[in-house]
Amino acid sequence: MMKLVDLHTHTTASDGTDTPEELVRHAREADLAAVAVTDHDTVSGLDEAVRTGRELGVEVIRGCELSTASEKGEIHILGLWLPADIGPLGEKLAYLRRMRGERNARIVDRLHELGVDISMEEIRAEARGDAVGRPHIAAVLVRRGFCPDARAAFADYLGRTGRAYVPRTLLEPGETVRMLHDLGATVVWAHPMLTRADMAWREEFMAGLKEHGLDAVEAHHSDHSEADARECAAMAARHGLAVSGGSDYHGGNKPKIRLGVGHGRLRVPYSILEDLKALRAGRGLPTEIA
Ligand code: AMP
Ligand code: ZN
Ligand code: FE
Ligand code: FE
Repeated sequence: MMKLVDLHTHTTASDGTDTPEELVRHAREADLAAVAVTDHDTVSGLDEAVRTGRELGVEVIRGCELSTASEKGEIHILGLWLPADIGPLGEKLAYLRRMRGERNARIVDRLHELGVDISMEEIRAEARGDAVGRPHIAAVLVRRGFCPDARAAFADYLGRTGRAYVPRTLLEPGETVRMLHDLGATVVWAHPMLTRADMAWREEFMAGLKEHGLDAVEAHHSDHSEADARECAAMAARHGLAVSGGSDYHGGNKPKIRLGVGHGRLRVPYSILEDLKALRAGRGLPTEIA
């Protein structure tokens, strides 16, 4: 049996529904050799995940996912092998979470204007971690009977064309890559095919990020086809970048995506992790957590 890994997952620290411990237990049950925990805008789930990984013999990679803005829309960046002391990244994450709080308050104000009376307290209680977002608001809207399901909550209120939509603060891509690179993280462009652009634009954008320290492209992802994965891998190879892969598992918040296997066909071989580690070794960076 080929050893498999999953290098993109979310927990209750942000908008996943597995606690970090549950996530790592599920990784063990799914026979994954390694899992990277990459919550949005927080590292608060990582210590628990690492502890559980040690107990169960699952290699846990400390990570995070940051959202940035481009002319073509959002670009998501993963930092893998974050150090225990995240230095200036800590302040950046705190800023992003503060902006999430302000945005959530504005969404709640708009909902009140529409006669939808939910409170920030309910939303904070729904979110079990410190990075609070629209999936938590959607869950409250469903539980309180304002919407039949999360899909409707996004369609009617929270999505881009919803009546209570408020945009989120996004970072600048080059600076974000640079900050993670300077911390000694392995920097990955997450799900490049989900940004609506043509391949030429993606390749040029990727080459620009490489100048800032990008290491790899997430070729394998639940919402990438096999052809998408091949195109991403070819694009990365042309510029001397590595490839990564992960499911973007969110537990019950994205019920169709399963850990390790995505919609069923995703497979991320351990050799992808080994290649990323070899790159780190070449830069004199650690691949084990102290
Ligand atoms: P936020 O970080 O608060 O902007 O929320 C973004 C998250 O909301 C995404 O990661 C998705 O999981 C979820 N999301 C965005 N759009 C939709 C949608 N139309 N339906 C369901 N979930 C969505
Ligand atoms: Zn998410
Ligand atoms: Fe993402
Ligand atoms: Fe993600």
